[in-house]
Amino acid sequence: MTVDEFGPEIVFEVYDQKTGMWGVVVVDNTALGPGKGGTRFVPDITTDEVKGLARAMTWKNALADLPFGGAKSGIKGDPKSPHKEAFVRAFARKIKSIVPNLYIGGPDMNTTEKEMGIIAQEIGTRQATTGKPLEMGGLPHELGSTGFGVYHSTLVAAAHKGLDISKATVAIEGFGNVGTFTMKFLTEKGATVVAVSDSKGTIYNEKGLDYHKLMETKEKQGTVTKYADGKVLHAEDLFGLSVDVLIPGARPNVIHEKNVNSVKAKLIVEAANIPMTYDIEKQLMKKGVLIIPDFVANAGGVISSYCEWKGLSQQEMFKIVEERIVRNTKAVLERMKNHDVRAAALELAKERVRKAMEKRN
Ligand code: NAD
Repeated sequence: MTVDEFGPEIVFEVYDQKTGMWGVVVVDNTALGPGKGGTRFVPDITTDEVKGLARAMTWKNALADLPFGGAKSGIKGDPKSPHKEAFVRAFARKIKSIVPNLYIGGPDMNTTEKEMGIIAQEIGTRQATTGKPLEMGGLPHELGSTGFGVYHSTLVAAAHKGLDISKATVAIEGFGNVGTFTMKFLTEKGATVVAVSDSKGTIYNEKGLDYHKLMETKEKQGTVTKYADGKVLHAEDLFGLSVDVLIPGARPNVIHEKNVNSVKAKLIVEAANIPMTYDIEKQLMKKGVLIIPDFVANAGGVISSYCEWKGLSQQEMFKIVEERIVRNTKAVLERMKNHDVRAAALELAKERVRKAMEKRN
């Protein structure tokens, strides 16, 4: 990634002689506020990768209309190592000078509420990180903020497309944190979720799946494919089903050159990050498919982080997630040209950051 007018503003590589910990914080842009983005703990992290992720956070936070800039951080190490906690503590101590005025952390790959609690404790303020344990004033992902946001984005997009959600059929890839809550809220609103997948396969019933029974099946038997009243298909078959709304909610690049022509949905809401490339999105747009991009639809998580940082309650958080997701999805749909919501969203995010940069100068 090259440097441009937006950033990065800070590339802060740290090394701790005592533990051997190496880590990096990239603060991409702080025009809207302190850089906000998660800390990943992986053996092959590079500064370049963190730079790219920090830039993605600049757009995501700006689009969500939060007073946060974009940032990301990484600690190099084996997440199963017995030294993990020592590395996290050493990392926190090394980055103390820029937290939380320029950088605020959060959970990411292989970091959870435990590590966020440790970092906040080492730095000495609860505003150092979000995603902390409930007892430290955290609003954990388990509350379902992302799925709740995906649901609201879907409602706005369906209305835009002239789809009556109470008569619509839906397929959801993934039945984890995001997938379960998305299904819960959509079925409560009267949508018919006909297919859900997990790593073992897809369960399909054209009359609809029962959310509570599916949850029970997943909890007791470990997979949605053991659901009694449905047909078991391959996990990949979900993307070609005859449904009105398709919600990829698990893995990256699941819609690609080989299966893009089998997609029949009129509306795709990207709950997962990068479920397809922009090129594939464009192929679908050309056919009139409306795609709500990941950083618009799945921003419930970052909005919830903002609420935690502000010290708000769960109830207040859900209200704000709904308000922001509805407002932002509407805003990008109004701007959209040639069915390209992603381009409109990026344009809006850039506009907000540029405006804040001009004010700062
Ligand atoms: P999770 O680990 O809770 O659940 C993932 C689910 O995907 C599991 O049910 C798993 O069985 C399923 N899965 C794995 N392989 C699969 C396959 N080949 N086919 C179908 N299903 C498969 O994860 P999550 O938190 O729900 O996150 C899902 C996606 O949403 C990820 O792309 C994540 O980056 C993105 N996301 C999550 C949040 C959040 O707050 N949790 C926020 C923004 C974006």
